[in-house]
Amino acid sequence: MPELPEVETTLRGLSPLITNKTVTRVNIYQKNLRWKVPGHITSTLNNCKVNGIERRGKYLLIRFDVGTLLMHLGMSGSIKVVNQSELLIKHDHFEICFDDKTCMRLNDPRRFGSVLFTKDGKHKLLSNLGVEPLSEEFDYYHLFKISRNKTQNIKTFIMDSKVVVGIGNIYACESLYMSKINPKTQSGKVSHARYKLLTTSIKEILSKAIDAGGTTLQDFAQVDGRPGYFSQTLSVYGREGEKCNTCNGKISRIVQNQRSTFYCTKCQN
Ligand SMILES: [Zn+2]
Repeated sequence: MPELPEVETTLRGLSPLITNKTVTRVNIYQKNLRWKVPGHITSTLNNCKVNGIERRGKYLLIRFDVGTLLMHLGMSGSIKVVNQSELLIKHDHFEICFDDKTCMRLNDPRRFGSVLFTKDGKHKLLSNLGVEPLSEEFDYYHLFKISRNKTQNIKTFIMDSKVVVGIGNIYACESLYMSKINPKTQSGKVSHARYKLLTTSIKEILSKAIDAGGTTLQDFAQVDGRPGYFSQTLSVYGREGEKCNTCNGKISRIVQNQRSTFYCTKCQN
């Protein structure tokens, strides 16, 4: 599943390729994504110039004078920029064509992605989002303050997008391992010092993943424009029964909030 680093990589790849370009045509090939793609955008966005593109959580926000296009990659989505002469491939559901004969295509086999439009840049999907993990606002005190009196486990807590956005399952497992916190610990009982380690770990892991994704940016405009999903090495995620890199103990798997958690029972206690 595309997580925050992949979305950030997509943003960085897309930005120079679409900013300041003018839309010549919008094609919706499959309107039934997670939510119905609004049909009016084929006319609304025509002849509009892309002012810029931003990211909020895992949403990409493409800014036009007439409004903002909100895109989400869902479970299996990817965006690429190709020449308009390039044939469509299976699961290409949406495209925006530009005046320089390129087009931006959304490919999404599982169709959990979304393409939405908002006139004023506001949207209910954006209104409850917590802080950005790579921003200065995200520090130990932020987590410490809102976790007090909470009995919810620390892993589920940091994956709550109202607390902080974009910490997916992989990054939650990896950052808890890096900061030696047991994922079952109640978030309200985690100390200042541990939260300091945790926020630093989260920032470091996400930044590394973004850097790793960055190496694939050169290929962005090519046919296989898929950013480097999961290209970094993982310490615990998906390694049940394998050896811990620190203590040689075995990596365990448990289920929390219907998601697999991988951790080292020796290092993380
Ligand atoms: Zn260990």
